[in-house]
Amino acid sequence: MISVQDAQIIILELVESLEETETVSLEDATGRILAQPVSSSLDFPYWDNSAMDGYGVRFEDVKNCSSDYPITLEIVTEISAGINPKLSIQSGEACRIFTGAMLPDGVDTIVMQEKTHQEGKKVTVLSPPNYLGEFVRKRGSFYQAGEILLPSGLNINEPEMAVLATAQCSDLQVYRRPRIAILSTGNELITPSQTLQPGQIIDSNQYALKAFVVKNGGIPISLGIVKDQPKIIKQKIIEAINQADCVLSTGGVSVGDYDYIVQILAELGGEIKINRVAMKPGKPLTVAKFNNGCVYFGLPGNPVSALVSCWRFVKLALDKLSGLQSDYQPKFITAISQDNLSSQGQRETYVWGQLKLMNGQSSFSLAQGQQNSANLINLASSNALAILPIGTTKIHQGETVKVLML
Ligand code: AMP
Ligand code: MG
Repeated sequence: MISVQDAQIIILELVESLEETETVSLEDATGRILAQPVSSSLDFPYWDNSAMDGYGVRFEDVKNCSSDYPITLEIVTEISAGINPKLSIQSGEACRIFTGAMLPDGVDTIVMQEKTHQEGKKVTVLSPPNYLGEFVRKRGSFYQAGEILLPSGLNINEPEMAVLATAQCSDLQVYRRPRIAILSTGNELITPSQTLQPGQIIDSNQYALKAFVVKNGGIPISLGIVKDQPKIIKQKIIEAINQADCVLSTGGVSVGDYDYIVQILAELGGEIKINRVAMKPGKPLTVAKFNNGCVYFGLPGNPVSALVSCWRFVKLALDKLSGLQSDYQPKFITAISQDNLSSQGQRETYVWGQLKLMNGQSSFSLAQGQQNSANLINLASSNALAILPIGTTKIHQGETVKVLML
């Protein structure tokens, strides 16, 4: 059985980033991954503009003023945001100016309104600016035209949307979304709309995995429930690997009489890279790679095990597949445990619960109720997994624990 760390290394080695791109409009760019660097022909700010409501002045005119020696200037024009100033400001003159308004020629410094006194067409400056250029947002001081504005491989979130809009980037090249096939195996499974008969189980994994895929930028292809019959499973797997970049199946990877997945993957020419991982839950994880590049994750059937495997491994695979530039490492932090945590110590153990800030410190609290890999109920509202390494059987309340943020 391989370690979690080795499994991560193997998975990241076998996943190749997609190279195909597509064009999307700015409106549809949120959550996509940039496939080429973006630059702009515009400086940012576009032109010198005021950072304050106040008066545009020549620094030389007012640099020596004080409350004992105030300087009075003549207001020759008023410039609000959106106006293209025509007048040039001469020595002894000032302009009334507002935040965001373009500076006229001659003005090099803004004096904030609070440091002045206006009477009619005259403004008296009561204290000097601290330096030449105070409260001026200089053209190109945030970004200069032609430089790289956003690099390729970047996930487009709120700030990137703002930057793209500012650069008038109406269409952009992004990587196509990875297609992820999802199938649930098990004779006991029914869909949520069917009537439950004794012994049956509702296929919750299909929905959990679909949510996981959507959240991570993939296109889910729901292939439904597959009975534990080798012929049918084989047919479904062929269908899946032919249309998806990655397949997630649940169930049938354990050691029971109905667990056929590993054998079928091998028969279909899949190279089995992993088939057990020293973790709890999530031991029966199978990972295979096909000639067409498709990566197959045979996840355990238990709902918690399936999701823990997704959060710990599949997430990194999807990040890499999607073209994201990243170190593809899980988001671990150290937290104070609010509960006693225990493990049998033989496998790396993941327990679920909530990560919160308490007195300014990250703290982890176990989900109430049973930590049982079939207990999908108390997994809801969990936002973190605390990790007990191999050999650690107890982490006491108040001690630190390594936590994976979800
Ligand atoms: P298996 O790995 O196929 O032995 O399944 C392990 C456990 O997970 C069994 O109790 C299954 O009933 C349950 N299980 C398997 N697939 C699903 C699913 N799609 N949704 C919910 N539970 C499942
Ligand atoms: Mg099964």
